[in-house]
Amino acid sequence: MVGRDELAPIDGPMRRIGDWTTLQRAPTAELKVLQDARLARFVSEELYPFSPHYRRVFDEARVAPDSIRTVADLVRLPFTTKQDLLAAQVDPARKLDFILQPSPEKIRAAWPLSRKLPLLFGGAAKREALRYAYTPNFVTFTTGRSSEPVAFTYTPHDLEVLGEAIARMFDIGRVNAPDDRIVNLMPFAPHLAFWAVTLGGFTTGRMVLPTGGGKVMGTDGNLRMMERAKPTVLVGVPGFVYHLLRQAREERRDLSKVRTIVLGAEKVPPGLKAKMAECLAACGASNVTILGTYGFTESRLAFIECPTTFDASSGYHVQPDLSVFEVIDPKTGAPVPDGADGELVYTGISGHGTCVVRYRTGDLAVGGQTWKPCPHCGRTLPRIASELKRVSEQHALSLTKIKGTLVDLAQMGFVLSSLAEVEEWQVVISKKDDDPLELDELEIRVAARSGISPDALRENVKKELVSATEVAPTRVQVLPLDELVRTLGMETELKEKRFVDRRPK
Ligand SMILES: [Zn+2]
Repeated sequence: MVGRDELAPIDGPMRRIGDWTTLQRAPTAELKVLQDARLARFVSEELYPFSPHYRRVFDEARVAPDSIRTVADLVRLPFTTKQDLLAAQVDPARKLDFILQPSPEKIRAAWPLSRKLPLLFGGAAKREALRYAYTPNFVTFTTGRSSEPVAFTYTPHDLEVLGEAIARMFDIGRVNAPDDRIVNLMPFAPHLAFWAVTLGGFTTGRMVLPTGGGKVMGTDGNLRMMERAKPTVLVGVPGFVYHLLRQAREERRDLSKVRTIVLGAEKVPPGLKAKMAECLAACGASNVTILGTYGFTESRLAFIECPTTFDASSGYHVQPDLSVFEVIDPKTGAPVPDGADGELVYTGISGHGTCVVRYRTGDLAVGGQTWKPCPHCGRTLPRIASELKRVSEQHALSLTKIKGTLVDLAQMGFVLSSLAEVEEWQVVISKKDDDPLELDELEIRVAARSGISPDALRENVKKELVSATEVAPTRVQVLPLDELVRTLGMETELKEKRFVDRRPK
């Protein structure tokens, strides 16, 4: 491509692995200085001059862009919410307002001489470099159940940043052996996960075989692909990966080369990791590492754990030259100290295309963010605690009222996935007799591991749920595994239907 390295240093030649080698173990103070410098430069040379939305936000808040010098200065700006994105998207006059839109005039006004001078004399090659840096050529969408999908655009520059970020994630997850081969089981869709894994393969030069997930190839197609490709790494969502591994064990498939499983999900229960490892052991693979990741459309990046035992988590390693996380009290909006619980607020400092600043994720990190060096890998990158909960106001479905009690559905899923005697599960919330005036009913559907008595399973599921969520299920139904797999839509849905809310809206 033409001259893309010449827009340094923000757009800079991050691909040089030397940078990453130094960055990941640099002293904390140096990383903070780097992050502050990237933020300040991003705000004054990219965001304020080129983002119609944020130019308005800064002007209305009477904040001068060059007064944002450090992460601590961000508190002077208002938060950005999902509602802000939705409101802009439906307004024809504002729908592109979150996308950086440079022009020769804006560049002349905002950039220092050292950065704009080459543009003035660079001719066609420099114009092409600008186009490469700023013109969107790709898009993914949010997957909100309660609202319209929101589009997030990427420019060629952003795809390069994402590829580099995923390459670094592979390194953190120790997916960096010369013979690593990855099967990408993420659903094929205009969503971040599938493309992030694919780009990571393009950037690192490792083989990545996309199956498209259960909906595209079915269980059998996925298993055949896995057996033929002899992967060392599987990447997918926990429910589908476990379904495949269970089936692989049943069919005595050879998966003996698998060393690592990367899951596109937060806080994977140790019990589920153990069940996956047990299946893999039966397919010839021992000593498997299982890693969780955190990512969301609005960040256009993702964050990964480093290898640990199943009962520990390193937290998600953040790349501080690309991203800023603040952790706030969700009620007051005030920043909380290092290591304290709070809602994650995201600011990208390396992107073009659709950019968000102080974006409220609605994810509450239990343990917040820490700058202490990682006790597992020794990297000095900041880390986000792996246990995430939804902040109630923004994610109504995952924290829902059942029988008048607020129930954390994620917690319920955590308990059910952890149980060794449960192969599959589904939660159905409905009204008694489908009458909107009647009481809520909570039905738990489970498939038992072979050899487990249905009565004992019913009792245990009830007991575990009551102790974890204080809500007793109306009934626990034990179903045959294949029936439950069908009901979950393992081969027919992009994402399996774990929680079904049949109550009238
Ligand atoms: Zn680590």
